[in-house]
Amino acid sequence: MFRASQLPTYRREIIMSHTTVSSGFRQVERHDGIFQEREHDSYRAKGKLPEPTVCPQCGAVFHEGRWQWRQAPVNAHRETCPACHRIRDHYPAGFLTLKGEFFQSHRDEIMRLVRNHEEHERAEHPLKRIMAEEEKDGTTLVTTTDIHLARGIGEALHHAYQGELKYHYNPEQNLLRVSWAH
Ligand SMILES: [Zn+2]
Repeated sequence: MFRASQLPTYRREIIMSHTTVSSGFRQVERHDGIFQEREHDSYRAKGKLPEPTVCPQCGAVFHEGRWQWRQAPVNAHRETCPACHRIRDHYPAGFLTLKGEFFQSHRDEIMRLVRNHEEHERAEHPLKRIMAEEEKDGTTLVTTTDIHLARGIGEALHHAYQGELKYHYNPEQNLLRVSWAH
């Protein structure tokens, strides 16, 4: 199986470059069809899991073809879910950068919206989680276990406050950078 640990240089580049766009990313329009789930995602494309499978880290259960929050029978197959895998590997799928004067002066309110959006999504979709929040030079970086969550948070911010929203997508690795400036 492909693992993030096999790509130390690339991974460092993504995490360290923060506001610049790394190689492999290209800008995409917000309504491009690229966001249909690409099964290039090595964290998901692992072949068929037996059902039910329970994640020993978070308790999510793979049932009827998707990960759900539900009770697992005691004899369920045990395997780490893709979200916990990414968290363990420190290998996010979504990178959301937030910056600008409006952001700085409304930071608490905006970060509350970001976290509320995630909580709401995570309650329905166990693989959609915020991994970390990091501040650097007036920019906040929020990393996520899923590209759709990063995109959804960006859309929610744009819907609530307008501002400038941009996407850069890396199809080879199924990584998405969302930048919101306001
Ligand atoms: Zn898990």
